[in-house]
Amino acid sequence: MGQSMVAITDADCTGCDLCIPHCPFEALLPLATNPPERKHKKRPVVVIASQCVGCLSCIGSCPTKALHEILMPPISITSPLLTTSDDPETEQIRRWGKKGLGWA
Ligand code: SF4
Ligand code: SF4
Repeated sequence: MGQSMVAITDADCTGCDLCIPHCPFEALLPLATNPPERKHKKRPVVVIASQCVGCLSCIGSCPTKALHEILMPPISITSPLLTTSDDPETEQIRRWGKKGLGWA
């Protein structure tokens, strides 16, 4: 069995943000803007590949099953999610405070 990672099916992501607090590594963040071609009104959440350690804690937190497991090839030394060296521009998340998780 190889190392696992997660990916998000963009078309199935409603941007509900429910998955965000399930990632202890802050690898699930909302895109800063909603791509114009999207059918959903709200911007999607994306996996920040450079942050994701493949712990799979987030699997099962998505009500639309947009989050899914993908397997890394055994010979891979980098995340298969890393198609560019730059992480996408995302919203800031204020995770801790008196009121708990919040959006900056
Ligand atoms: S697999 Fe783990 S590190 Fe990666 S996004 Fe899910 S909870 Fe975060
Ligand atoms: S829980 Fe699912 S639908 Fe909601 S933001 Fe996360 S990936 Fe998207």
